[in-house]
Amino acid sequence: MDKYTLKKEISKKIYEQKKQNKKIGFVPTMGALHNGHLSLIKKCKAENDICVVSIFVNPTQFNDKNDLEKYPRTLNADLEKIQNFCDFVFVPDENEIYDTPDNRVFDFGNLDKVMEGKHRAGHFKGVAQVVSLLFDIITPDKAYFGKKDFQQLAIIKKLVKDYNYNIDIIPCDIIREESGLAMSSRNERLNPELRKNASEIYKTLKKSLDYINIKDPEQLTKYVINTINKNSDITVEYYDIVDDNTLKPIKKWDESKNITGCIAAYTGGVRLIDNIKYK
Ligand code: AMP
Repeated sequence: MDKYTLKKEISKKIYEQKKQNKKIGFVPTMGALHNGHLSLIKKCKAENDICVVSIFVNPTQFNDKNDLEKYPRTLNADLEKIQNFCDFVFVPDENEIYDTPDNRVFDFGNLDKVMEGKHRAGHFKGVAQVVSLLFDIITPDKAYFGKKDFQQLAIIKKLVKDYNYNIDIIPCDIIREESGLAMSSRNERLNPELRKNASEIYKTLKKSLDYINIKDPEQLTKYVINTINKNSDITVEYYDIVDDNTLKPIKKWDESKNITGCIAAYTGGVRLIDNIKYK
């Protein structure tokens, strides 16, 4: 595995690979890598000649300064975890990524107005900004994103379409801890008790599948929020049942062929997200 910190160096190396017709796969990450990230990286390695991973905690996508400061940074351990699967790892600093002012205005229509977009002002602008800059540097054939960040995936697909990137976006399944809690770098900030209790989030989402024939989406939304909030450690920020493509809320189950419930909840000052597919 070769490590790069400069755009021009990794670009040159990738250009040489492309000249030899090598296919480039790319996994953007913010580090503090866990098995969720590793599943993307292994898939990327299996499906491409060259697997490129970036590790960059992108400040422009954090609306909460405290969250940015507390975001775990474990570079040496990260490099060790990926060395057998990754060919090139890109670890730029902030000045390297944002070396020129970026005044682009992204228009995602409804996609960034709801859920995460509503509660984290400017988050998706930051995501789109960094992902497009990374796409320009890495020029991958395929890029891998986790379904855990369900809304992010919808935004990235729209970015690729609007900006005519010739990149296949590959959605990857959510990897969970044994308890069912979706793996997240932020789980590291929970003490063992909170971490155990946080599994109630997914347990409730899973249980909600049993009720789709007897509750409409609105009733099911209330069921999920009330059940999780009964847990004194956890506070639901939102639970929305939406169409997978438009992210618009669903009122009746027959309104759409693809429906997902998306949640954000706080526990111990840590914000967690997860989702469940109904249809
Ligand atoms: P992050 O480092 O949080 O920006 O995540 C980098 C990539 O890993 C994103 O595409 C995430 O959706 C994905 N990812 C994070 N956690 C998981 C997980 N538990 N299962 C699958 N993919 C994940």
